[in-house]
Amino acid sequence: MCNHQSIENNSMNVRTRIAPSPTGDPHVGTAYVALFNLAFARRHGGQFILRIEDTDQVRSTPESEQAILQSLRWLGLEWDEGPDVSGPYGPYRQSERCDIYRQYALQLVESGHAFYCFATPAELNELRCYQAQNNLPIGYDGRGLQLEQTEIKRRLAAGEPYVIRLKVPVSGTCMVEDMLRGSIAIDWSQVDMQVLLKADGMPTYHLANVVDDHLMGITHVIRGEEWINSAPKHMLLYQYLGWQMPALCHLPLLRNPDKSKLSKRKNPTGILYYQRMGYLPEALLNYLARMGWSMPDEQEKFSLKDMLAVFDLQRVSLGGPIFDQQKLSWLNGLWLREELTDAQYVQRVQDWALNTDYLAPLVPLIRPRVDKFSDIVPLAGFFLAGTLELSSADFVHKHLQPDQVRKVLQLSLWRLESVRHWHKDRIFAVLNQLAQAMQIKPRDLFASLFIAITGSTNSVSVFDAMAHLGPDISRARLRHGVNVLGGLSNKEAKRWDKEYRQLAML
Ligand code: GLU
Repeated sequence: MCNHQSIENNSMNVRTRIAPSPTGDPHVGTAYVALFNLAFARRHGGQFILRIEDTDQVRSTPESEQAILQSLRWLGLEWDEGPDVSGPYGPYRQSERCDIYRQYALQLVESGHAFYCFATPAELNELRCYQAQNNLPIGYDGRGLQLEQTEIKRRLAAGEPYVIRLKVPVSGTCMVEDMLRGSIAIDWSQVDMQVLLKADGMPTYHLANVVDDHLMGITHVIRGEEWINSAPKHMLLYQYLGWQMPALCHLPLLRNPDKSKLSKRKNPTGILYYQRMGYLPEALLNYLARMGWSMPDEQEKFSLKDMLAVFDLQRVSLGGPIFDQQKLSWLNGLWLREELTDAQYVQRVQDWALNTDYLAPLVPLIRPRVDKFSDIVPLAGFFLAGTLELSSADFVHKHLQPDQVRKVLQLSLWRLESVRHWHKDRIFAVLNQLAQAMQIKPRDLFASLFIAITGSTNSVSVFDAMAHLGPDISRARLRHGVNVLGGLSNKEAKRWDKEYRQLAML
């Protein structure tokens, strides 16, 4: 079952990869998967590759790509090949490889393993409605398979938009081999006729991922368990294209302390949050290594180097690892107390926030309000703080009841979750809109946010503050504000969520 046994025997050149999609803030889950890929490759004397999966042109941004590369580097994860270091199998950014995917999609049609479908979005929507109304399973019904060759030729010649879909067996069971989980049975009836090439000519994740893993010589695909259900489609693609499939390993998903999937609704998930809070990269990496894995002697504190010396993928346990900030803080405390000399300590504090990059943007904000440097901390110390010391008394407002304030904070939190471009003007615009939709004065909404974000009634603009603190810290402070005001029961969360969705502007 375990492939790594055979690696040691036949000295195969191990190549692993992390393949992030640059569609948001760098996620701790990406660092966790990257770490295990790196460790596995290093342990077997192989290479670790970073590939950017940016075929979703609407959601991918260069800023997100930059932030992902920077934060993985900050953690000390170094890749051998990637968009910024190049290598023999480039380009390492999928948007620069579109012609390659198209060629394979056409080859699959040619060999009878994929087919054209001309169904419009409206037609497919109608199909879904019909299925829903008649209690039928929702999904594509294979209508493209019914088209005659002449009909296909005619429609292609007429320039009609089309997608290319994968042919999938209608019955039987697919057996997926996983390095940790053994054989996993998935019925083919559960597997949809996946779109491989979209109407805009871009490949979907499945096609691009398989083609690239093959062309880049990836031998072991180590990724999160959320991809298990994609494995049958990938197996088919390897089989249809006549390629050997890499070994698969699905790592357990990181979880919130309540066991639900780690999500930014409940916890900060961005690497930048942990950086800004002043965790050491070594400690965060150490903690991520402890997610489902342990050192042979069970010690808690260890470096990447220690880990690489003894890494064994088979020691990953499949019970959902809990990402617990308190445990991380405890471990970080050990690192701070035991691993740094005084001089290194000072250097790390400077690296963290007492440096030009972090402080320079604050100068224009504080300059008009400061007469002497000792005014800075009372005015802007919150830029260096984590969770603020607040009580419900701090939120007392002349026009809003405490429950309204709590609601304002919670709805703002939800609204800010979907802000993709974290800039001052954008933050202002969405919150201003939210206030109007909630039929309260923007000024009143902003006042409550001001307390939660800055901890005082007098400081720099709350939008500047949020822009500089970043999305994760800002959201964590709003969440803290809600908790200080009594928290949110499940029932209330449901009711408010419904109201929130109904607000006209959304
Ligand atoms: N682009 C996928 C992601 O964002 C990669 C999944 C995989 O490793 O196959 O997670």
